[in-house]
Amino acid sequence: MNQVLPIHAPPATPRIEPPLALLAELTHRCPLQCPYCANPLELERAAAELDTATWKRVLDEAAALGVLQVHFSGGEPTARRDLLDLVRHAAAAGLYSNLITSGVILDAGSLGALAEAGLDHVQLSFQDADAAQADRIGGYRNGHARKLVVARLIREAGLPLTANFVVHRQNLDRLPEMLALGEEIGASRIEVAHVQYYGWGLVNRAALMPSRTQLEQANAAVAQARSDLRGRITIDYVVPDYYAARPKACMGGWARRIINITPSGLALPCHAAETLTGLHFPSVRTTSLAAVWHDDPGFARFRGTGWMPEPCRSCDQREIDWGGCRCQALALTGDASATDPACALSPHHALMADAVAAADALADGPAPDLVYRRIRTAALVR
Ligand code: SF4
Ligand code: SF4
Repeated sequence: MNQVLPIHAPPATPRIEPPLALLAELTHRCPLQCPYCANPLELERAAAELDTATWKRVLDEAAALGVLQVHFSGGEPTARRDLLDLVRHAAAAGLYSNLITSGVILDAGSLGALAEAGLDHVQLSFQDADAAQADRIGGYRNGHARKLVVARLIREAGLPLTANFVVHRQNLDRLPEMLALGEEIGASRIEVAHVQYYGWGLVNRAALMPSRTQLEQANAAVAQARSDLRGRITIDYVVPDYYAARPKACMGGWARRIINITPSGLALPCHAAETLTGLHFPSVRTTSLAAVWHDDPGFARFRGTGWMPEPCRSCDQREIDWGGCRCQALALTGDASATDPACALSPHHALMADAVAAADALADGPAPDLVYRRIRTAALVR
């Protein structure tokens, strides 16, 4: 009998699953000036934005890559004159489309046209349930009243509506009213999103971080609303990192679920990844989306678990939270590859506890002045 030689298979290349969603930040222009905006401190100007043809190519490449959803975001995406064209193109490419908007420059005509073009869903942001407070936080007069009108128009256009409330020290006491408002305007989903403390949120952390008492009352309000609205409205709510014992799976894990494109065409694994010094990300002007996703070293840098230090490396949660947020790790520890300080197992977790103690100490005094999101102040707050 002939000797059977062992067959050596070529080393397997780990398969990278396609992203679920494309976050298309069409512009950083926005009529509002929220002091917790997720946009970077250095806002991109209109002249730097991708043109319509490039966005259409990106949408086609996303569909070919296996992306299922596109979220048109900003800034305020309705500030782009070609939004209708892009929505129509996304629908033709087979992408589910969601418009993330402040709503203030929408009207019945534009909403009807967007619905007709194939828009699938609208996420409308609110700054508060109290009009005066909402307008103060958003830095936009009569914005809240306009949003109430637009919410009705969204429903009349036949589009499903998610109401998004960003919560913090200065509005959290009115969370029950915000949840009631979401029900009143006919939202099928309500998102209660605590401010993320990087970028503008970090600049304003002392003014926006809630006290522990506020957080406990908010948790109770959400639990009550979930019980009252069960089967009718879904409520998304995540406890803020600063009060958690374990971090969130930021963006579903670095370069696992989402690909983010900035107004000028930079491809990022998350909308704040530009803050990560030392990492360089490609532009979709010169690089295909498939090459970005599969080959870019910046996208590969924190993907999976191979990059993890201890205690993440040997932790049984590492494929659940993927080590938390890299931007938060850098912002608080100076090291993007550190375990997220939100984790109680992180050697830097005391940084979170210190910030919480500072927020509690401030709870009864006046909040510091807000630094509003404005292009002209960006250089002053770095
Ligand atoms: S968070 Fe506020 S300022 Fe930032 S894009 Fe949204 S509405 Fe505009
Ligand atoms: S040690 Fe790392 S993997 Fe484990 S829970 Fe904390 S952040 Fe997550």
